[in-house]
Amino acid sequence: MSFTFKPSENLSRVAPSATIAMSRRAKDKAACGLDVINLSAGEPDFATPEHICAAARDAIAAGKTGYTVVDGITELKQAAVSKFARDNDLAFTTDQIHISPGGKASIFNAFMATLNPDDEVIIPAPCWVSYPEMVKLCGAKPVIVPTTAASDFKITQEQLSSAITPNTKWLCLNSPNNPTGAVINNAEYGALAEVLRAKTHVMVMTDDIYEHIIYEPGGFATLLNAAPDLADRTLIVNGVSKAYAMTGWRIGVAAGPRPLIAAMGKVISQTTSNACSISQWASVAALSGVQEYLVDRRENFRARRDVVASAINHTDRLSCMVPGGAFYIFADCSQTFGMTSAGGALISDDLDFCNAVLDEALVALVPGSAFHAPGHFRLSYASSREELDKALTRLGKFCADLV
Ligand code: PLP
Repeated sequence: MSFTFKPSENLSRVAPSATIAMSRRAKDKAACGLDVINLSAGEPDFATPEHICAAARDAIAAGKTGYTVVDGITELKQAAVSKFARDNDLAFTTDQIHISPGGKASIFNAFMATLNPDDEVIIPAPCWVSYPEMVKLCGAKPVIVPTTAASDFKITQEQLSSAITPNTKWLCLNSPNNPTGAVINNAEYGALAEVLRAKTHVMVMTDDIYEHIIYEPGGFATLLNAAPDLADRTLIVNGVSKAYAMTGWRIGVAAGPRPLIAAMGKVISQTTSNACSISQWASVAALSGVQEYLVDRRENFRARRDVVASAINHTDRLSCMVPGGAFYIFADCSQTFGMTSAGGALISDDLDFCNAVLDEALVALVPGSAFHAPGHFRLSYASSREELDKALTRLGKFCADLV
């Protein structure tokens, strides 16, 4: 009898990444010589700034290439402490900082450090693809709370109240949000905090990774600005990927209560060990160096957001909210359902829509169902104006030709 591979039960419950699947289809088409415009990526299109790259080269030249303390070098933890004081008006000490190979790893380490089989994690949807799957990988239960454009895709006090059970371990908040770009402001955090104060068994994860890509006049706020009293059960997840265009360097920076940070340190010590030493030194330069260029980059994104949101809202049968942050447009495509494309594809859901747009208009988008929000698609505008204009023209024609 031949060997049959059997994944673990936890892994069997995990869905493969739809974003990666769409990206692969787009790459396959491009490899065949087709002029595919890929708007499915979740990363800035800027280069990592030169002073950050120089710090990495210096680290190599100085031989800083060995193992480091598992949850991060002291210099980076200090830079993180200064960052939280400078940008967020929050006071942490270095033993409250966890450095990992990316924000994604910080989230996983936090879940791994805390979740038991009956635990529930409340995740407002639309949500980043990985939260529910990581919860399942840890053997616990994601509780998806759907939100709609009517509440600007934000969880309300009432929704939060009714989602919390005695088994709730975490609430996951993400602002600016991937995929919607929705921003939770200080008052809205305050309203959620009112509910959380009465539920002392619930920890909160605020995923602030898009902090610097924000267009709201009030700027960025995190839960602890509105509710410092929740500090003993709040984990801030942040990192250098999106702000400093360092997605490939893999550095996550999390801040939270000491017992949780120590538990996450135990997880990282027995799994990945330290994040890349060179990337850690580069991240010291990112967090401690000049910050002014972040404003220029943000304004550059804002100009693209305005163009894309306006074009989508002028496209037949598509509509979107003008997002307050991140670099995504989350558009409603449900008005196209039941129609047939020029190429003969019947559109019955967001997956059909995205597949037909890729096949016929050669534009790669991500279906909303990947983010637990069917009837929508996510478009990343972290692409050149030229590419965006071309993609929007193609998308407009695709929708105009639907019958
Ligand atoms: N959180 C959100 C909402 C994201 O969109 C991403 C990346 O796409 C991450 C966390 C993880 O970022 P990284 O692991 O690159 O730091």
